[in-house]
Amino acid sequence: MSLTLYKKKRSFKDTPEPGAKKKTVSKKGLTFVVQKHAASQLHYDFRLEMESVLKSWAVPKGPSMNPEDKRLAMMVEDHPYDYRGFEGTIPAGNYGAGTVMVWDEGSYEALGHEEEPVKKQEKILLEELKKGDVKIVLHGEKLKGAFALVRMKGKGDNSWLLIKKVDDEASETDITKKDRSVKTGRSLDEIAGKEKIKKTASKKTATPASLKKKSRV
Ligand code: MN
Repeated sequence: MSLTLYKKKRSFKDTPEPGAKKKTVSKKGLTFVVQKHAASQLHYDFRLEMESVLKSWAVPKGPSMNPEDKRLAMMVEDHPYDYRGFEGTIPAGNYGAGTVMVWDEGSYEALGHEEEPVKKQEKILLEELKKGDVKIVLHGEKLKGAFALVRMKGKGDNSWLLIKKVDDEASETDITKKDRSVKTGRSLDEIAGKEKIKKTASKKTATPASLKKKSRV
């Protein structure tokens, strides 16, 4: 996995986004994050930790808890692990300019392999990724239960579908109506209005949400 493309697309003196650093600390579980991103076109960035980076898909309509919805998910470049905590504004003129919210986050597992050690699960997930059929269980604040990411045939390598699998968490309620940050409770407008665009902001926003919540209490 490489962050070359991530680095190439960004000018780190102009954007508060995290630099292209790979994760160095080993942790117990795998994490996922969904970032709501008001770029030129609003979308949700769905990111799964694998091999110390975040495998990433841009989902224009956002995730759905309804198994009947098939949400287009365009695979984009790997993002650094630290990106999962990024919430703020990417200044105009930069790649992906616009406001980013940590819409959901949590841990995830390889569906059907939940009892396996994390390393083994990661290996299984990488194989599923190669095959274009990734099956996961999310433990987020908003997204819960089993999901599949399926690569579409004959549409190049980048077009995937994000689909909720049938389980007790499945629902017809529009989950995107929950539109505040799970990290700070802010709306997109609040993030856009209050964030100062400074290079020094990147360190602060890269703090893991778990630590941040504690320090806020
Ligand atoms: Mn994006």
